[in-house]
Amino acid sequence: RAKSRGGGQHCLFSEELAAEHHQKVETEKALTEAVQRGEFLLALQPQLSLATGEITGAEALLRWNHPRDGMRLPSSFIPVAEQTGIIAEIGDWVIAECASMLSAWRAEGQARRLAFNISPRQLDRQDFFPRLRASFTENGVPLSMVELEFTESAAMEVREDVLDEIAGLRAEGATIAIDDFGTGYSNIARLRSMPLDRVKLDPSLIADIESSEQARVVVQAVVELIKGVGCEIVAEAVETVAQADLLRAMGVHTVQGFVFAQPMFEEEFLAWTSNSERGARSVG
Ligand code: C2E
Ligand code: MG
Ligand code: MG
Ligand code: MG
Repeated sequence: RAKSRGGGQHCLFSEELAAEHHQKVETEKALTEAVQRGEFLLALQPQLSLATGEITGAEALLRWNHPRDGMRLPSSFIPVAEQTGIIAEIGDWVIAECASMLSAWRAEGQARRLAFNISPRQLDRQDFFPRLRASFTENGVPLSMVELEFTESAAMEVREDVLDEIAGLRAEGATIAIDDFGTGYSNIARLRSMPLDRVKLDPSLIADIESSEQARVVVQAVVELIKGVGCEIVAEAVETVAQADLLRAMGVHTVQGFVFAQPMFEEEFLAWTSNSERGARSVG
């Protein structure tokens, strides 16, 4: 009896595994087609200086305009894209799209900086950095308009030659950021020696700062640490004015979050930024 039940469980387990595998294969196929069919979009979310309220840049966030499911968020497809390696093709599209937008903005005299996310899988390719550089230079985009975001865990694990490439881009004006700081393990000595301009605090660090003294103490300590290594601090997923006020008082430089702006597609983003710039001018 025990044996047959065990057998039944085994059967159920492998059915689940098979279904999961099937789902993964389907998503991989759909992602490959999505790149070819141009189903991806970038949503742009402004970043603001806490001291002046000025827009200092934006982050490009991937969206998949799925023919059946509608607009899909990265959490529903980036993990599979990373497991299968298809993130490299998607990442190439992201870079090309950023280069094209920046080139158009520059032609209109807008020298705004745009950040995009880089997955560790993209760094496995030998020619990643030369191609990245070419995408921008061939479009006449100076690297001073470009910001690269690496997650904390990816940044702690990159090889020396990758660090050299990143340092090279930074020397030519690119901004280098660590994303989701505070979720992984950071080697402080390594942080100090990295080619780095900005650190983006993970939302989990700041979520409770209004209600929890302990959360404020932790954020303050992290802020001091990051300032100590000479980096700018960005807080993301800032949802309330009270959070923004606390973060300003704690010395955070820049914010990105729903309290100021949602991620928007390009047309809406450009309208939003020109409106808020007019607003800032008329106030000042
Ligand atoms: P991330 O790079 O840390 O991006 C910030 C995420 O926080 C975005 O979610 C953004 O929409 C969200 N967010 C912004 N303000 C708020 C807020 O006030 N409250 C809350 N609750 N959330 C806020 P999104 O767009 O769903 O992206 C999730 C993650 O997907 C990104 O996290 C990034 O790790 C990944 N991702 C997005 N685009 C790309 C891409 O082009 N390439 C790669 N490799 N990963 C990407
Ligand atoms: Mg990011
Ligand atoms: Mg982040
Ligand atoms: Mg993230």
